[in-house]
Amino acid sequence: MDKPPVEYRWALDANDRPVPITLAQRSAPYTCPLCRDVMIARLGTQVQHHFSHQAANQCDSEAVSIAALRRWLALHLDEAVNRRQPVPYTWQCLHCGQTHTQDLLENATYVLEDLLNAAESPDVRLTDANGVAQASFYILGEGVPLPQSLQGSLGQGKFAFALSARLLPESHDVAAFLSDVAPFAAPCPLWDQADVVRQPERMRRLLINLAHREPYYFFGAVETVDGLADVVQVGRYKVWAALPFWQQVVGGTLNRLAPNVEIFIQNWEQTDGGIIYLYYVRIRETSAIALRRYPPHSAPNIRVDDRYRLQRFTALDMARELVSD
Ligand SMILES: [Zn+2]
Ligand SMILES: [Zn+2]
Repeated sequence: MDKPPVEYRWALDANDRPVPITLAQRSAPYTCPLCRDVMIARLGTQVQHHFSHQAANQCDSEAVSIAALRRWLALHLDEAVNRRQPVPYTWQCLHCGQTHTQDLLENATYVLEDLLNAAESPDVRLTDANGVAQASFYILGEGVPLPQSLQGSLGQGKFAFALSARLLPESHDVAAFLSDVAPFAAPCPLWDQADVVRQPERMRRLLINLAHREPYYFFGAVETVDGLADVVQVGRYKVWAALPFWQQVVGGTLNRLAPNVEIFIQNWEQTDGGIIYLYYVRIRETSAIALRRYPPHSAPNIRVDDRYRLQRFTALDMARELVSD
């Protein structure tokens, strides 16, 4: 038996503009975004609407979708930039829980498209006049892991989107298309006002400085402070300490004492021969961080008793126990 024909969700029209099958027209001429061969819109009532190649071909359906959606996004964003037409975007903020609205093109001057199809670089980027990315769009195939560069965008105050290659626009309105998509990362005006520490290098420096100051240890709860989620108050600073960000900036080895009792332990050797131990503790619904500097030729004697089994014992209690005498 023959294999069923591969179904395609995108094609290019006579002007080389990507057209999703949702907007295809009967008997209009179409070509394939990858091989440029003739495509036909199948808009019958029997099977789901799709494009098919007129002749036999090797094109991968998902690769066609990624190439076409990338082109579609870049084209429509570029036209909006040139017409100075805003692309309003509303989202639920991960950091403060509020709803924010911002023009995605507010600081955008250029639209860059990744024509090399590199795994780590965004498919489409909006940059300001200096080439600094303001928004990044990653189009991801089925089962593809999130690129490191996308994960690194968390909390950095710029927009980042992880778009499924299966998404199909219902119109040629890019704002309407994006309104259904939650951001992977986004700016937060409240964060900016509070100057939350969320830059990896700044955070590492702050932790090291903290460890070199008397009493050479620190512990603090990861909590909602002034409406800002997952923050540790360190003196006058608010430090963002959501676990994925901590893992990226500090890292550590997971020690699981019980299903809902976890300690991530990391150590940083210092140039003076000393060593800083850093902990991220999660107990039931509570989280805390702790750190302590040990002088050369000494090391911690990490002992944990089983009080964590008590319901009222929190991550902060554990953090205190790990670093204070
Ligand atoms: Zn093709
Ligand atoms: Zn916010």
